[in-house]
Amino acid sequence: MKSLIPLGKPDITEAEVQAVVTALRSDLLSIGPRQARFEELVADRCDRRHGVAVSSGTAGLHLLLAALGIGPGDEVITTPFSFIASANCILYVGATPVFVDIDPRSLNMDPHRLEAAITPRTRAIIAVEVFGNCAHMDEIERIAHAHEISLIEDACEALGGSLGGRPAGSFGRAAVFGFYPNKQITTGEGGMIVTDDDRLAGLCRSLRNQGRPIATTRDPADTEPANNNRAGSWLAHERLGYNYRLTELASALGIAQMERLDAILEARRNVASMYIKRLMDWEDLILPNMAEMESASWFVFVVRLTDLYGSTERDRILQGLRRHDIGTSNYFPCIHLQPFYRQKFGHKPGDYPIAEHVSQRTIALPFFNGLDEMGIELIAQTLRVMLQREQLLKRDR
Ligand SMILES: *Cc1c(COP(=O)(O)O)cnc(C)c1O
Repeated sequence: MKSLIPLGKPDITEAEVQAVVTALRSDLLSIGPRQARFEELVADRCDRRHGVAVSSGTAGLHLLLAALGIGPGDEVITTPFSFIASANCILYVGATPVFVDIDPRSLNMDPHRLEAAITPRTRAIIAVEVFGNCAHMDEIERIAHAHEISLIEDACEALGGSLGGRPAGSFGRAAVFGFYPNKQITTGEGGMIVTDDDRLAGLCRSLRNQGRPIATTRDPADTEPANNNRAGSWLAHERLGYNYRLTELASALGIAQMERLDAILEARRNVASMYIKRLMDWEDLILPNMAEMESASWFVFVVRLTDLYGSTERDRILQGLRRHDIGTSNYFPCIHLQPFYRQKFGHKPGDYPIAEHVSQRTIALPFFNGLDEMGIELIAQTLRVMLQREQLLKRDR
């Protein structure tokens, strides 16, 4: 189904098109200079020494847990209110996810509930900056540090955001960004690990490249003379690795997007302010609450219904918006209630009541650069009609 106003769309200009075409004509389509440049741009942006480009945000999270040696018998603490990848990566390495309920304002893991979930088996915390909100990351970092547990910042939704002057991606042992087309910047598919830890970065580089020795950068089939001396190690595999490399085409796209990041973030802030201005006084809605509004990095624009509504009403409103060609989604269904988590770990409704309460009432509205005043008016008026219908149906009961 094609929406008249889509839920999201990437911001691609002629600069991006040219960058990809140039990369395509360079005859070097993987493991080239563009990957290294893209890594540098993202690492610099969040004050980290290393960037390790990978094929997706999910791959980045998986590599980090593998590089930290986390496996069966280990526990990793995370949030139930997120995109599923932030918990699935724990299952990939055979460890056990331990969920901590969220703060109802920020929608991020509640730091006040975190300590109670730490056990002698806890090896890491994966804290997610949900919808780009960096709230509590500093407190969570303090707790992780005090307990000598690795903090992995899932910053996949927060590129360009900050908290107390520190950029998203700078908290904890390492962080991961994602570049799927609905994120602030895109490489089609792609991700980036950032860290200050030399050894961890080296391990991630090896693991993304089939476990090859860390110094091996190129396939000897390439004719560049500079690489001939390393040719012998291309088929040496020191550890079980993966192919999680990012192509030069994707890296070229990423570089062009990074060069426009500030303009992109500004455009997103403008759309968010227009929404906030238009929806501010609506009694039946709770508007998003970002930690530092003026400098926030907006991933999506998610409003919530008040307690007067439940999931039945919310789902009907989503359906109504879609019927009127307005893209919308229920970001996010709780991870612990997904069928295979329920089956494997015995989770049930009521286990994480705040996350569940929020999750039943969210409405993600269309959000992309170039969404104008007219578009927002159309969305607002349609949403108003859907809310009024629910009021009438309630009276009818
Ligand atoms: C987008 C996202 C990821 C990574 O997704 P990919 O599609 O694998 O790049 C991970 N965690 C969160 C919270 C995300 O939103």
